[in-house]
Amino acid sequence: MTTTTLALRICRGCDRPMTTHLTDELPRYHRGRGLCNFCHEGARRRGELVDHERLNRTRDEFLDEWQTLCSEGHTLRQIAERLGMTVAAVDQALNRARTAGDRRAVPAIRTDPRAPRTPRGRAA
Ligand SMILES: [Zn+2]
Repeated sequence: MTTTTLALRICRGCDRPMTTHLTDELPRYHRGRGLCNFCHEGARRRGELVDHERLNRTRDEFLDEWQTLCSEGHTLRQIAERLGMTVAAVDQALNRARTAGDRRAVPAIRTDPRAPRTPRGRAA
């Protein structure tokens, strides 16, 4: 263990401690809706996520949902729709997370096919 202070929460699913964001310190981290990554994935596979109350979306929860939707192959536009956000708001949230150093905030989706192929922030 490092001397880093970890913010811990208790998973609503398994009552085990989890970190509030992905770290190398504990296997469990908050994935969304008060659930750790293991419980969240299990609930998602069983189609039971809807049974778990959605909390106010923190950056952490946003990134968890972002990762899940990216892994399901959705476009940025579709992800924004699912999250009830605008594309610009999703971009801003990702930029804020990136600035904060959260390693989950990486571009992991295909962008709009009409968009330029160069990564955002670089000159075309
Ligand atoms: Zn759990």
